[in-house]
Amino acid sequence: MAEPWAFPDKPYAGTVKKSSSKQERTGCAALHLIQSTTCLRQFFALYLDDQSSQATTFIAPWCCDRHNNTSFDLSTYFLGSQYTGISALEDLATDPSKKRPRNRYQAMDEHWPLLKKLREWRTSAHGRDPQRSVQPITWLCDDDALNALSKAHPDNLRSQDNIIKLLDKTEEWGSDCGAAIFAIISKFNSGTMTSSSSRPAKRSKASSSSAISIQ
Ligand SMILES: [Zn+2]
Repeated sequence: MAEPWAFPDKPYAGTVKKSSSKQERTGCAALHLIQSTTCLRQFFALYLDDQSSQATTFIAPWCCDRHNNTSFDLSTYFLGSQYTGISALEDLATDPSKKRPRNRYQAMDEHWPLLKKLREWRTSAHGRDPQRSVQPITWLCDDDALNALSKAHPDNLRSQDNIIKLLDKTEEWGSDCGAAIFAIISKFNSGTMTSSSSRPAKRSKASSSSAISIQ
C-alpha cells in the first residue's frame, strides 16, 4: 500500500470517482504502452531507464508483435481476428449509431410504473408455483433485481440474454423467469401497456437527456 503521490502514473481522467468508467480509470502508462508501435522490450527499457546491453535481449524465436519484418502473427493464436481498434474506430466514424450503448439508467420518477408491473408479475408467478409454500417469492427474483431492471435503460434490455447478464443469472433461470420478464419489459417499452405514467415508447438517444449516464 502506498499513497497516490508515490506513483508517477495517473488515471486518464485525472480524478477517479465511484462512477468513473474503465477508460477513465486506466493509467496513462498503460495507454502509452498499447498505443505505441515501439518494440515492447524497448518500451520497457526506456520506461525503466534500463540502458544495459541485455535490456532488449531475447532467446525465443521472436521478440514481440511490434516488428513487421518477421513471420510472427499473434492472431494465429486466437480463434477470431485480433482486435486492433481500427475497424471499431472506422465504424464509429461512418456510423455513429454503432456506438456501444452505455449502462444508462432511468431517472428516478420514470422507473416506478415498470417496477410495479414487474412486482405484479412476480406475485402472480409465485401464486401459480406449486412449491410456493416452501419457496419464498424472492427465489423468482429479489427486490434488488427488480429494482435494477426497472432502472435500466431500454437500450440495455433488448434481449432475454441482456436480462440474464444484467442480473448475473443462469440460462435455466432465463428460460423461465427471464423470458417472462423480457416479455413484460418489451411490452412496457413498446407503449402497449396502458399507464398514464408509463415509460415513453422507443426513447431515442437524443431524447434520453433525463437518463443518468453511469458506466
Ligand atoms: Zn520487440
